[in-house]
Order: sequence, then structure tokens, then C-alpha cells
Amino acid sequence: MSDFRFTIHDDDGAARAGVFLTPHGRVDTPAFMAVGTLATVKALDPDDLRALGAQMILGNAYHLHLRPGDDVVREMGGLHAFMAWDGPILTDSGGFQVFSLEGLRTVSEDGVEFRSHLDGSLRAFTPESVMRIERNLGADVIMQFDHVIPGQSDEATARDASERSLRWLARCADEVARWRSDTDEPRSPQALFPIVQGGIHESLRRAAARSVRDSGDWVGYGIGGLSVGEAKPDMYRILDVVDGELPRDRPRYLMGVGFPEDLVEGVRRGVDLFDCVAPTRMGRNGAAFTRDGRLNIKRSEFRVDKRPLDEDCDCAACRRFSRAYIRHLFTADEILGLRLLSLHNVHFLVRLMRDARDANRGGTIDAWSEEWLARYLSRPVTSE
Ligand SMILES: [Zn+2]
Repeated sequence: MSDFRFTIHDDDGAARAGVFLTPHGRVDTPAFMAVGTLATVKALDPDDLRALGAQMILGNAYHLHLRPGDDVVREMGGLHAFMAWDGPILTDSGGFQVFSLEGLRTVSEDGVEFRSHLDGSLRAFTPESVMRIERNLGADVIMQFDHVIPGQSDEATARDASERSLRWLARCADEVARWRSDTDEPRSPQALFPIVQGGIHESLRRAAARSVRDSGDWVGYGIGGLSVGEAKPDMYRILDVVDGELPRDRPRYLMGVGFPEDLVEGVRRGVDLFDCVAPTRMGRNGAAFTRDGRLNIKRSEFRVDKRPLDEDCDCAACRRFSRAYIRHLFTADEILGLRLLSLHNVHFLVRLMRDARDANRGGTIDAWSEEWLARYLSRPVTSE
């Protein structure tokens, strides 16, 4: 596993700051990964992402398998070459997507049958087929195929899904081992991350974390099944439990969690990597993160507001444009409006994690996060 290395530079309680080295470069942690579901972080060019300091981005196996097809991506040289992003990439296994297709899927021990959301065609994912898809995509970090359940699921349902995910992990690992032993395969090394499931049930989470930990020498760990409808205190409580069980010397990736307050709370609980569609999805709807909470740029109160979206922000949108101008772009359905808010929101989270690293380095993560959260949450969110 010498192609990947994780080094912690600063420990501050459960929080830590470090560097995750991959075959396509470094990621300073904690880090926010922008989501490029369909091989594009919506409305942003890879140059934009580099300029705002993004180091690692995410692609999605389910969506890319359906369109353009993982075989097409492979033929085009893999996801890095296809989308002209030469930095680290992680692919999500598609578990979250196929299990979100309520009524369109059948789960068995072998895998999941589902209907494509694009054309209704019948498809099947197994741990082995998902590994082959992620192999074709060629990301640096590939996630195991897991059984995802709603956040409020009862203990029996959560146990069943968690134990199935563990059995599927073993099958994913076997499939990856098969291609690692194939010396004719000149492609870049990939690290398989297992996913800790278990819903909001502490004993299940503890058991899942221990089983995953004891099942292999993993480069890093995914924490799944959170931010899927459960209350925030439940998510934070489960993160505390998982933090105590996973090896401290490997990166932990909290999947699909990306609201600013959750990033701060996650960092305090030993999480190193985050991703979420929130910054770009909300941006396209006119919502902007600011140090003083969220605002909706479409509101009439910003009609002649000369201030930038966030006076503390140094992104390419805030350096040049007023709230009044961006509001005008949204009102007129101009495409630049979507771009500027997406740019600002991704920048906001990337910079938030840089500030967290600085606080860690200074040994002030608790004071920094209390102050940050108090200000961010001090104003009610304006209606969206
Ligand atoms: Zn900005």
C-alpha cells in the first residue's frame, strides 16, 4: 500500500490535521471533496476547482455506469483523463443511489436489481460488478458496495444491512485482489475503502467498526448511513462512537455530509474527509453559505446591496461582484449566477477546512469551532 500514505501532523483531542498521499497527489486533511457526480462538478471547470484550492473530488459509479458508461470512461483513459482533472479522485460505489430508488429495486444476498432512473431498463449491481465499474473509472479511492438504509431504521433492519455490507466488503476485497494479482494490468493503483454502517444504534456501529477494522489492513475508512434523515445529535453521537473504534492512523471519510456546521462537528470527532452535493445544488437554487449563516440571494432585500455574498470571503465571486448583481443574474436566469454561487459555496467549504487545519495546528480546535458555530448559527436561516 506504499502508493497511499496518511500522516498526521497535528493532534488536538479527537481532531487531527494531516496529509493523505495518493497516486495523483496530496490531500491536506481535514478536507472537503466537491462532488462531480457525472464527471463534472456542476457549473465549475477543473481550473476553477484548482484555483479555489480543491485537492480531491468525487465521482459516482452508478451515474457514470449508466451514462456515458464506465467502459467509455475506461476507453478514454479513465476518469482523470476524461474530465481533465489530474488530482486525486474518489468514486462512490452507487450503494446510496440504488437504495434511494424506492420501489424500483430488489435486494438479495447476491446484490441489487434495480431499474435505471434514465430509461427504466433492468440492471443489477453486485459487489463484484461494482468493483469492476470502479476499476474502469480508475479513481484513486474506491468505495465498497454497501447496503444503505434510511436514517431512522430500527435495530433489526440496521443490523441486517450492516452485516450484509460486511459480507459484501469481503467480496469486494476478493475482486480487487484478483486484479491486483494480474500483472498485465498497468493501471494506476486504487485503494478500497470499507464502509462502517449500523444506523443510529451505538452497539451496531461499534460492532461494525470493529469487524471492518479486523477484516483487513485498510488504507482508510468510510463512515456511511449518516445525514440520511436522522437527527443531528444522533449523527454526532455515532461519530463519537466510531471515532473510538477506528484506527487513528488511517483517514476517515464521512460520506455525503457537507453542511458547514456538520463539517465543523465532524472535524472535532476525528473525521478527515467529507463530500456533499449541497454547495453546488444549493448554489444553483440561489442559496449561499456565509460566515453569518445561509442567505438566499433571490430575496428582494438584496436588490441594491453593494456588499459581496460574504464580506470575509476571498473567492472569485466575492472579490468582484455585489449581492445586487448576483441577485440580478438569478432573477434574469443568467447562467453566470449559478456558476458564481457554486464557486462561492465550494470555496467556502474548502476554506472552512483550511481554517480547521490552522486551528488544529495552533491547538485551538475547540475554541475555534465554538466561536465558528456560534457565529454561523446566530442568525436564523433566511427562507429559501
Ligand atoms: Zn465568496
